[in-house]
Amino acid sequence: MTTLFIRSGTVVSSTGVAPMDVLVDGETIAALYAPGAAQSQGITADRDIDATGKYVIPGGVDVHTHMEMPFGGTFASDTFETGTTAAAWGGTTTIIDFAIQHAGERVQDMLAEWHAKAAGNCAIDYGFHQIIGGVDDESLKAMDELVAHEGVTSFKLFMAYPGVLLSDDGAILRAMQRARDIGATIMMHAENGMAIDVLIAQRLSLGQTDPVYHSLSRPSPLEGEATHRACVLASVAGNVPLYIVHMSASEALEAVASARHQGANVFAETCPQYLYFTIEETLAQPDFEGAKWVCSPPVRSGHAHHQSDLWKGLRTNELAVVSTDHCPFCFKERRELGLGNFARIPNGLGGVEHRMDLIYQGVVAGQLSLERWVETCSVTPARMFGLYPRKGAIAPGSDADIVIYDPAAAHTLSAETHHMAIDYSAWEGTSVAGSVATVISRGSVIVEGKRYVGRKGHGRFQKRGLCQYLT
Ligand SMILES: [Zn+2]
Repeated sequence: MTTLFIRSGTVVSSTGVAPMDVLVDGETIAALYAPGAAQSQGITADRDIDATGKYVIPGGVDVHTHMEMPFGGTFASDTFETGTTAAAWGGTTTIIDFAIQHAGERVQDMLAEWHAKAAGNCAIDYGFHQIIGGVDDESLKAMDELVAHEGVTSFKLFMAYPGVLLSDDGAILRAMQRARDIGATIMMHAENGMAIDVLIAQRLSLGQTDPVYHSLSRPSPLEGEATHRACVLASVAGNVPLYIVHMSASEALEAVASARHQGANVFAETCPQYLYFTIEETLAQPDFEGAKWVCSPPVRSGHAHHQSDLWKGLRTNELAVVSTDHCPFCFKERRELGLGNFARIPNGLGGVEHRMDLIYQGVVAGQLSLERWVETCSVTPARMFGLYPRKGAIAPGSDADIVIYDPAAAHTLSAETHHMAIDYSAWEGTSVAGSVATVISRGSVIVEGKRYVGRKGHGRFQKRGLCQYLT
């Protein structure tokens, strides 16, 4: 087995920052040494990597991606191959994607379908959550099987998209009760979809068809209301672990904070788009340009205090995780489906490549500590979804998923240079301080010196345990 020494770097964990040398043996981390200690003991490796002046962090864990997601006769434009390769470029070494079941479909068949898409194609390790679009006796029974045998321990429900994926409150309660019985986590897309559909129809009937109305027909109180309702249902179901996905709004954060203060097992994630974009700067751009930023929940107004609240939530752990909700659709042909009707614009942004960089900007700006950057982007996502300490840790025995990050480098995000399979960048022209220098996945160097040296099929499916934040 090949050994690898990462020397003279600064190891960042969720609990501290310290100069350390890291020895990798095969696919796992063998030992950590005080600087120079290994040399004085005569310990050498097949290969040395000099990390002087750089951070050595556990590889990023992005728990919310949608590679090849089917949507209205088309697909999200990143395959498992291109999407995981782009993730690797950006310092993410594990993704958790979503297998989708609609009403009438067999959950196990849909999970098998997603396995077939991913197997042999991924550049980095991956797992699955299961979306339950049709809660019934069969799908509830399937939840048991997935937890017991498939390493799929989290189930996503939708309070949005009536007629497509929406579960009503009764269905949600049933799924939550089942999750409680088997220790599983319920993930929730929390927006009041019934009310939103009324507002969309009213906008369209007034001829208000531009992309900006996508956001205006999904007002933030409807995210807050749904988040609160999900928290109440989770409490009634017996304090089942509830994880609110892609939070964008102050009202929703308040609902989660209040549930947490009452001792509930409620957690939440946000995504870079909600921390940085505003309606005024994105969706409101003229000539259909705004279509580039259509995602749900939508980007919010900069005149409110959503963004500062979300950053504060990240500091105080009311928001535990940053994911991307990576779901790219090209502008040509796909976004243009929504010309003259914002409701037909495919929802989703490409971002899997940029999360580590974008949240590091929070460190640069003084919004987050270095430790908290690593915690929200790597450690907590791994613990939340039962992957720790195999993932999310630089410790003996953990998988050698390691990113060497150069704080002195800088780069500019652009469709010209990104590796995601999408013909534009929502982040075009954004200057970023810091840059990924080297990426190691299970002991294999897959990105170094601005070159991708990994391969499709290196990434392995990861069976997951239960949420590791429960008592
Ligand atoms: Zn999503």
